[in-house]
Amino acid sequence: MNYVSTRGGASLGQFCDVLLSGLAPDGGLAMPERIVQISHEDLAHWRTLSYADLAYEVMRPYISDIPAEDLRAIVHKTYREDVFHSADIAPLTRLGEDELYLLELSNGPSLAFKDMAMQFLGHAFEYVLEQRKQTINILGATSGDTGSAAEYAMIGKDNVRVFMLSPHGRMSAFQQAQMFSIDEANIHNIALRGVFDDCQDLVKAVNADAAFKREHHIGAVNSINWARVLAQAVYYFKAYLALDIAIGEPVDVCVPSGNFGNIFAGYLAKQMGLPLGKLLVATNENDVLHEFFTHGVYRIRPSADVAKTSSPSMDIGKASNFERYLYLISGNNGAQVAQWWQALERQGEIDLRGTPFWQAVQTSDFASGRSTHAQRLTTIRETYARYDRLIDPHTADGVFVAQQHRANIITTHPMICLETALPVKFTDTVIEAVGEAPPRPARFANIEDAPRHVDVLDNDLDALKAYIKQRV
Ligand SMILES: *Cc1c(COP(=O)(O)O)cnc(C)c1O
Repeated sequence: MNYVSTRGGASLGQFCDVLLSGLAPDGGLAMPERIVQISHEDLAHWRTLSYADLAYEVMRPYISDIPAEDLRAIVHKTYREDVFHSADIAPLTRLGEDELYLLELSNGPSLAFKDMAMQFLGHAFEYVLEQRKQTINILGATSGDTGSAAEYAMIGKDNVRVFMLSPHGRMSAFQQAQMFSIDEANIHNIALRGVFDDCQDLVKAVNADAAFKREHHIGAVNSINWARVLAQAVYYFKAYLALDIAIGEPVDVCVPSGNFGNIFAGYLAKQMGLPLGKLLVATNENDVLHEFFTHGVYRIRPSADVAKTSSPSMDIGKASNFERYLYLISGNNGAQVAQWWQALERQGEIDLRGTPFWQAVQTSDFASGRSTHAQRLTTIRETYARYDRLIDPHTADGVFVAQQHRANIITTHPMICLETALPVKFTDTVIEAVGEAPPRPARFANIEDAPRHVDVLDNDLDALKAYIKQRV
């Protein structure tokens, strides 16, 4: 399988090439040249597979440059009960008697759904770098959960260093402790004086410097990495097949969204033939995506206009994976996407109103909603009272939007809400909602008291480059 850029440039090579390279040279994102079709018959056969074997089947057609038995070994190393604290890896649990389900994606090392893909990335990097006798310096940006998921995935990995930018003072105490307590020679925490979008912009700026990137073997693990999107598609298959329904019956999903990586993986699964119905995008007060799906204008926000909310991993002013979606909407038209992104740089928005592309969006089965702080608190409280289930503020954004959607339209489809983090990561908000602290896994006891390993940097490209230079 060959990969191409969303902006239409030359071929990007195969899976292992795009795994290591981050952004395409023309600034676009990697996409496979075609989307593989899965039949209902295939799906029926996959029902009995373990998570690891399902991951193999879903990803295999997109990874033609790793021998089959090696890929099989990688997914089995990745999706293990002792890493994900569940034999099922991603259990689907029903909420009461309602057609409402939670897909548990947060039982891995960092307690957020990011582990589902990042653990795979860690093993894939290790394998490919060993094959190629290369090293890589991963430069990433995190609003909270990517960072710890990446760092836990890369601890002890040969040939990998991690440089992780996070917005100074904006992550929860627990999230900070998770990252900054890591004391490993190959892990570098950088707290940037700015917001998440500043972190993401600096990562992009470093990547735009082709000479620096080449010389210092800069790679990426943030949500633009294709391998993450691909690994995330697997759990949509897992969730669908766990339901006791005939293959072909539609199932709706609701996804707390920020960078649009998680829900785009769901769209990929749907495009592959998984019978998903509606894909519901849930945002918080930072509602760039909700605005787009309601009005047809993708209007990015300058970082000064990104609100600090109680679901901070969704505090974004632009959604980096959105480009992949518009690429598919355009009919794989790289020139069109390049034009859109030029308009975005000039005017800060892409306006699809009155174009055939807006019609294509409206028939792509997306819907959206937003939630406020008060609504997420109420949702946490009511979900606990009604279903005896404590959820985190991001998952609550999703459950709120899902319930609102179901109240407004008549549907009998099952609705799967993705659990994107465990409540313990956001203790303060959970206490505010229900008056008690969420349970904390024993392995995280007193994590806030551990010595902190973090350097604070100004929002300055040269300072960041100098920092990396000194450490590679
Ligand atoms: C990353 C994250 C999100 C947003 O996911 P995207 O793939 O960026 O849309 C939502 N909730 C939590 C807890 C996260 O860590």
